[in-house]
Amino acid sequence: MTVLLSCIICAASVLVSVFLGDLGGASSARMRAQASADAAALAAVAEGAPYGDSDPRSAAETYATANGGDLVSCDCDPLSDRVEVVVEVDGVRATASAEIDAELFGALALPDTVRGLDPRLATSVKKIIAASDGAVSLRDGFRTLEEQKILWADALEKYGDPEIADDWVARPGHSFHETGLAVDLDGDVELAARLVGGLGLPLWRPMWWEPWHFELEGSRG
Ligand SMILES: [Zn+2]
Repeated sequence: MTVLLSCIICAASVLVSVFLGDLGGASSARMRAQASADAAALAAVAEGAPYGDSDPRSAAETYATANGGDLVSCDCDPLSDRVEVVVEVDGVRATASAEIDAELFGALALPDTVRGLDPRLATSVKKIIAASDGAVSLRDGFRTLEEQKILWADALEKYGDPEIADDWVARPGHSFHETGLAVDLDGDVELAARLVGGLGLPLWRPMWWEPWHFELEGSRG
């Protein structure tokens, strides 16, 4: 993230100097609008998931303004890897889009357990982990039926009573982990819950007695 952000800052300063040098030219407004739009799009995409602070619109606005433009529109879903912005300078509009490739960010590579998760849940979990600065991690995500069977058998052995085992582990075929709609987080789960609210993520905690268990909104109909 640091590398990317410093690249954007240097890209933005290069763009500023490009249009300052062209102030007298006939195509000045068009070039300035495009420069401003490019800078806004780059800044916005870097604020998206799971790399930035999840406020792509503000980033676009800041960088558009810093490059002499006004942000007209920002198709900037914080959960998306792609943004598109329209910026105006002296009545001239320019459009720019930017895309970011998760594979390029080795340090933020996904834990294996996000495999099999609904993509909206996987993205949300990545954002929580990135924003928590190491305080939250993913303990458990998608489970196969076989894995759920093992967990339930372990619980039965531990509690010796299927009724009590049911209180702690869903029966095979009945866990939301098997549908890819649930995760168990480790670490500061209250911080995770605050980040869900703060970042506007589509997650909820359906079971107060399992504060580490988060599901995708609408998971239970
Ligand atoms: Zn769970």
